[in-house]
Amino acid sequence: MSKQSRKFKVPDELANLYDFANTLDLRRFTHRGVQHRQNDALTSPQDLGAWMSDHGLSRSGRITPAMFATALELRASLRAFLQADTSARRKDRAMLRTLAQTTSHFPLQTTVDANGTLVLAPARDDALAGLAVVVAEMHRASMNGTLDRLKMCASDECQRVFFDRSKPATRRWCMSTLCGNRIKTRTYRERHRDA
Ligand SMILES: [Zn+2]
Repeated sequence: MSKQSRKFKVPDELANLYDFANTLDLRRFTHRGVQHRQNDALTSPQDLGAWMSDHGLSRSGRITPAMFATALELRASLRAFLQADTSARRKDRAMLRTLAQTTSHFPLQTTVDANGTLVLAPARDDALAGLAVVVAEMHRASMNGTLDRLKMCASDECQRVFFDRSKPATRRWCMSTLCGNRIKTRTYRERHRDA
């Protein structure tokens, strides 16, 4: 888990997936007069190594440029999946094929943890192995249904991944008071301008 995942009450079992997807920050809206600056926390193998170390996912060895590219492909496919609404997540064949392809680089194997519980652990044995934990979190959330609550904010100016804690799980914006209102205000303005 991280400061961000705790602040936004993301379940710990999804924290690495949530944080990894949000290493790309596309927010560009203006809030209280301040324009949000877009940022990518992963611009080099070194960045990825630092991110993995911050999340306790480091393994020995060097992250090569090819490994880094594999990690970015995983992130892009995760974000595409999280951007799709829950029905598209089951139907969008092209998107799912890409996800299957990118996650195949992060195989998992069963192992027994310190509490005697069977868990999925990275099967790779190199510097990128720890990132398979993100895929394991996704697998578990897919099994227990919580993955449907992990979404991307529908605002073009935001696209932040968030965890929908609402009872019906129908939220579209990370913060309806911010992203939701901004869109509603704009739609209202556009409608009146056209009229
Ligand atoms: Zn948002």
